Order: sequence, then structure tokens, then C-alpha cells
Amino acid sequence: MRKKIVAGNWKMNKTLAEGIELAKTINRQAGDNGVIIVLCTPFIHLTEVRNTITKDSLYLGAQNCAAETSGAYTGEVSAAMIRSTGAEYVIIGHSERRIYYHEDDATVNKKVKLALANELTPIFCCGEVLQERQSGIHFDVVRKQIEKGLFDLPAEDFAKVVIAYEPVWAIGTGVTATSQQAQEMHNLIREHVAEKYGNQAANNTSILYGGSCKPSNAGELFANPDVDGGLIGGASLTASDFMGIVNAF
Ligand code: PEP
Repeated sequence: MRKKIVAGNWKMNKTLAEGIELAKTINRQAGDNGVIIVLCTPFIHLTEVRNTITKDSLYLGAQNCAAETSGAYTGEVSAAMIRSTGAEYVIIGHSERRIYYHEDDATVNKKVKLALANELTPIFCCGEVLQERQSGIHFDVVRKQIEKGLFDLPAEDFAKVVIAYEPVWAIGTGVTATSQQAQEMHNLIREHVAEKYGNQAANNTSILYGGSCKPSNAGELFANPDVDGGLIGGASLTASDFMGIVNAF
């Protein structure tokens, strides 16, 4: 059985005090409806937020990790350092990293491997930009991102990966993919995984949707057979919105 997951990506928001407050509220409200909740905080929050978590359904994650193991890489934070805080997840290959920090498929692939080597679950992001969808190449774009980012993993490592489909045109824009667009792409991703790793692996892979997901549209998105939860940006910054999405299953 694949896991249902709702992960909040706080991005570059919240002071330490604000982050602790948000985490405390979410921790208080987190129930046990079978949904794994992941708080992907800025690096500086990780340890403190870890100390607020008392609920079994609540996990900690980072938003990125270095593409190197350790050493003279000023400003970088390694997968091992992230794991040492108690974090268990890490977002890899978010479109904002790919676009603003020029992370290519090879870099993303290195980060996935370092995350896995350090017992972090990678939340691997993929998704097309608007122009790619408009020119009808969105399926090919996503297929290629997944092949280059993940398909050289041995099956036992691939089994630990969570995939997040995030159409770039939907991130932070208020424009959400329709339920049909999400299901169509998630189904394509699952079929692609099945071709490479087999049906059982594909059925066990959690595929999250990300892009302007809110309490008002989460229920419809999550009702799709191939949508196993969400990666949530803006709406993860308010406990009531975020928990509204968690409870939308
Ligand atoms: C994201 O950045 O991963 C995201 C889904 O953002 P938003 O929910 O704000 O569109």
C-alpha cells in the first residue's frame, strides 16, 4: 500500500520564532487519519521544529541538500547534516531550484543519491513550464526528468522515493491544474515507473501533486486514483489552511 502524504514547503518564509509557533500549532492539530504530514522547513528551523514534534503522523524535512558529501562548499548543507537534525525527508529538484539555481538533471540525480545514502526520503519534483504544456510536450518533459533524475537507481532505492508532480505554471500562481490534468500526468508517471521497475513498484510509489493546492481544491485533487497527496507551498504557511488540506483526504 502506498503512503498518503501531505508535505508543506515553507520555502524562504518564517523567522525561527514564527516557524516554531506554526509547527507547534500543526503538531497540536495533527490527528491520525493515516496521512503522513511532512514539514519541510528552512535549514535553520530543523532542530527546533524537530523538538516540537510529538505526533506520530508528523515528520520533518528539508527543502534541498548539497550535491557534495562534505568539505569546502560555503553556504551548503549536506544530506548527512540534515539527517543529523532528525529530518527524514528532503525536497529535491524543486522547480525554483532548477530555475533560479540552475540545477540540472545530473545535479538533481546526485542529490537524490546523497539523500538516499543518508537515510533521507527524497521528494523528487518534476513538472513542465507553461510553454512546454502549450506546445504539447509536457508528457515528454516529465518523463525525461524522471528518467534522468531517478531511473539509474536500483529498485530497492527507487522504492524509497516519493515523486511530486508540480506543473511550474501552477506553483504560486493561484492557477491549479484541473483534477483531470493532475490525474492524467500522475497516471503517466505511474505507467512510466511500471515500465522501468514493474507494476508492484509503480503501485507502491507515492505521487504527490503540487501547485496552488488549497483546502478548497485538495479534496477533488486527492480523490483521483493516482494522486497520493500534495506538496504544498503558500497554503502550508497557515496552520488552518495546511490542516484543511491534510484533512481533505
Ligand atoms: C511548491 O512550491 O512546491 C508549491 C506547490 O507552491 P504553491 O502551493 O504555493 O503553489
